[in-house]
Amino acid sequence: MVAGASGDDGRWAATPAPTTREGPYGCAVSRRMQKGQPLAGKSLFVLDMDGTIYLGDRLFPWTLPFLRRVREIGGQYLFLTNNSSKTSTTYVDKLRRLGVEAGPGDVLTSGDATIELLRSEGKYRRLFLLATPEVEAEFGAAGFERVEESPDAAVLTFDMTLTYGKLRKLCAFLRDGVPFIATHPDINCPTPEGPIPDIGAFMALVESSTGRKPDRVVGKPSPDFLRAAMIRKGATAGQTVMIGDRLYTDVACGIAAGVTSVLVLSGESTQEMAAVSPHKPDLIVEDVGELGRLL
Ligand SMILES: [Mg+2]
Repeated sequence: MVAGASGDDGRWAATPAPTTREGPYGCAVSRRMQKGQPLAGKSLFVLDMDGTIYLGDRLFPWTLPFLRRVREIGGQYLFLTNNSSKTSTTYVDKLRRLGVEAGPGDVLTSGDATIELLRSEGKYRRLFLLATPEVEAEFGAAGFERVEESPDAAVLTFDMTLTYGKLRKLCAFLRDGVPFIATHPDINCPTPEGPIPDIGAFMALVESSTGRKPDRVVGKPSPDFLRAAMIRKGATAGQTVMIGDRLYTDVACGIAAGVTSVLVLSGESTQEMAAVSPHKPDLIVEDVGELGRLL
């Protein structure tokens, strides 16, 4: 935690950070934080997964103690993923396999978040949907009608069953001015065999053909994702903390949504990256184990 560097909005200002032996945004700084600040009154802990609670298939040893601590203080946790090719059930199964106590309501994919927001806003019901069959079923279960003619909106998810016919139809609807919503912006999806084209790459193709970009992109770093998370768990922005290992998605999302943001150094980011990033978290910790000790 940076002391004395908060701007008017309570976040880190662009003023130089205090320098310590360990570096400008070092953990020595975070350990000087007074217990309870800025985590006082927080009850919803929204967590990125890879790099934050596990790495690949290896759960970090400090994850379960952190989650227990959240429960001890009467809080709740929710895991986020931008991947909208699968349903939350897939992630719940993985979390349980790793020993994490999680139910269907504890994982929010960007597809779930899109459903949550569209349902709460009540504006679109008839959708032209590009999605895998399992994700399509979730939209159906949530009361949306999948249509091939005159949709209220076109929704692009990470459709691994994408066909030329679907693309052609999507582009035709977009040329007619149909509202265009995408679940997340990732260009590639990492897999053990290397990156594979994700929805951002589909968006580029569609834009090249029609000149249309999505009117709305729900997943990280959009604050929409956290809005959906707060709707799901019934929490306010003041009660919510976003925790993740990426500055430009997790931390940026937290800042945009007006919640407390925490960067963990257990994944992609280093202190050096944090020092030069425009996305300044409210708190930097080594890992969620350290965060748990601050609760
Ligand atoms: Mg991550």
